[in-house]
Amino acid sequence: MKCLFCKIIQKKEPAQIIEEKKEFIIFKDINPSASIHYLIVPKKHIKSIKSAGSEKVAQTLIRAAKKLAKREKIEGYKLIFNVGKKGGQIIEHLHLHFLAGKFYTRF
Ligand code: AMP
Ligand code: ZN
Repeated sequence: MKCLFCKIIQKKEPAQIIEEKKEFIIFKDINPSASIHYLIVPKKHIKSIKSAGSEKVAQTLIRAAKKLAKREKIEGYKLIFNVGKKGGQIIEHLHLHFLAGKFYTRF
């Protein structure tokens, strides 16, 4: 199995895990674009938003983001799906970027 995020989910690769639930995992982005930059990742391997049935999974990820923000009292944030290579997606395992705080780059 080659997928990096699947390896992180299976604890075969290290990551700074923020939260773990049955359907998703949240960990810190290794190369953050903001002072808070988390990746919300479904445990099921789905390639991207382009994949069939991704909407339901995306809903789970968005719900997780909202709960996280509420819990951490983050008033404003950015949620980003990079879709496909030309959309800036490097890791071919669906993930939602959660960014907040001080931004280092303009997304
Ligand atoms: P994307 O360009 O949307 O595919 O985003 C992939 C993100 O994964 C990038 O922001 C990377 O910094 C991040 N990343 C790559 N490898 C790791 C890792 N081992 N642990 C945490 N984040 C990673
Ligand atoms: Zn995967």
